[in-house]
Amino acid sequence: MAHPSTQTWHDRARSLSLRTRAFIDGQQVDAASGRVFDSVNPATGALLARVAHCDREDVDRAVASARRAFEDGRWSRMAPAARKKVLLRFADLLRENSDELALIESLDVGKPITDAINVDVSSSARCIQWFAETIDKTYDEVAPTPHDQLALITREPVGVVGAIVPWNFPMLMASWKLGPALATGNSVVLKPSEKSPFSALRIAELALEAGLPEGVLNVLPGFGDTAGKALALHMDVDCIAFTGSTRVGRMMLEYSGQSNMKRVWLECGGKSPNIVMGDVADLDKAATAAAYGIFYNQGEMCSAASRLLVHESVREPLLERIAAIAAQMQPGDPLDPATKLGAIVDDTQLATVMRYIDAGRGEGARVVTGGQRSRQETGGYFVQPTVFDGVTMDMTIGREEIFGPVLSAISFTDVDEAVRIANQTMYGLVSAVWTRDITTAHRVARSLRAGTVYVNCYDADDITVPFGGFKQSGNGRDKSLHALDKYTELKTTWIDLSA
Ligand code: NAD
Repeated sequence: MAHPSTQTWHDRARSLSLRTRAFIDGQQVDAASGRVFDSVNPATGALLARVAHCDREDVDRAVASARRAFEDGRWSRMAPAARKKVLLRFADLLRENSDELALIESLDVGKPITDAINVDVSSSARCIQWFAETIDKTYDEVAPTPHDQLALITREPVGVVGAIVPWNFPMLMASWKLGPALATGNSVVLKPSEKSPFSALRIAELALEAGLPEGVLNVLPGFGDTAGKALALHMDVDCIAFTGSTRVGRMMLEYSGQSNMKRVWLECGGKSPNIVMGDVADLDKAATAAAYGIFYNQGEMCSAASRLLVHESVREPLLERIAAIAAQMQPGDPLDPATKLGAIVDDTQLATVMRYIDAGRGEGARVVTGGQRSRQETGGYFVQPTVFDGVTMDMTIGREEIFGPVLSAISFTDVDEAVRIANQTMYGLVSAVWTRDITTAHRVARSLRAGTVYVNCYDADDITVPFGGFKQSGNGRDKSLHALDKYTELKTTWIDLSA
């Protein structure tokens, strides 16, 4: 099948109808206040649409709808096989509407259309399908009690889940919450980022079409300090499943304490170390992984390989190779299927990235390649893939998450030094080590304080493995059967059999 051309995508973009109203109780509705906010295409700076600006009153309505749906059992007590069928149909509808959903995502956040199809939509559909398939394959437990007693250990849905998600993978991060939360029978109120409201509003419609009962999934476009805060403080929300920055993750814990001690699950930021030892087997492979690890999705990746810890003996040849790959990854039109690097999500994030680049220069790091904006004539927010050498951990770009296409190379001379630098961070999301020595690989993997360790690869991924962080990268895990723990309560039922 021929793939659409750049021109075809632009034509489709012009005729695309974006959903802009909140989705509450199965209906598209305006914000109670009637207010709207502007959403801009980051590749052009032009207005995409005006979107419902939800606030506390809308949160109250959505939570009440989710609570009603949960209590009357229309979903929470639906037979497992029937629930599975609905979610499988939902996954099918995501695939059937792949081009439209990918286009929405690309226009909304500036990511390359090819990645939006192959990763965002495809992985979201697989996630929903995978969790649908767990529904009639997970069993509860019977405890090994004395003969005259029976103790059942069952999992029950936690109730109303508030899902608050970021903009870098809007649909996929939402799916990582929706898959396990819906599979286990919860109702969900989803708040997408104010920077990326459109895909969540569209998939809610598709979920309804798939047979998800009204009220089970509500979507509230709006800002963090209004709609997000009201959701996280709500007394009738049982659980907050959050993906976003560590700064806002901390607030979630406070909101929980200030309200009803709702469960709080956090997937937060990272400053991930990618360690290349002097005995790395394949320098080309390591260079490609290092470049894609930081430049993929414009570097707007929680798991970005943002700190390259490189043994002094291979530093120069490795950086040369990474710079050569960067030259091939210059930003382009996100709707061109050949584009590998798209636009930064908005002007605020662009300013943040440029501030970090200035700080890198100002604090004495050396620019190997990049360091400038590009495609300014388009009105969009593009940044060249950038590599800094000579970075140290006392520099801002060595410590802080940039969330842009900026690599900080830090050199070392022995393994223990590499591990010490790698762990010298408040984050612990992912990490990697490249070596041909199996003992070094295992020893370093054990020493790295991170939820995922890659050995001789970076960003290997599958829905079957848990994803999440140590330390201030968060708690709990998305993906895999472990994700079900977040959305269920364990109940013990004792039955006396002595009579
Ligand atoms: P953010 O923390 O600014 O916002 C995330 C979400 O929280 C948005 O929906 C936002 O509206 C909402 N929010 C903001 N302030 C709030 C408040 N006071 N109360 C309630 N909600 C509030 O993060 P972002 O800029 O959207 O995303 C980037 C961050 O997300 C990065 O730090 C990145 O590492 C992290 N991230 C982590 C993972 C992971 O799986 N660990 C995945 C993707 C992104």
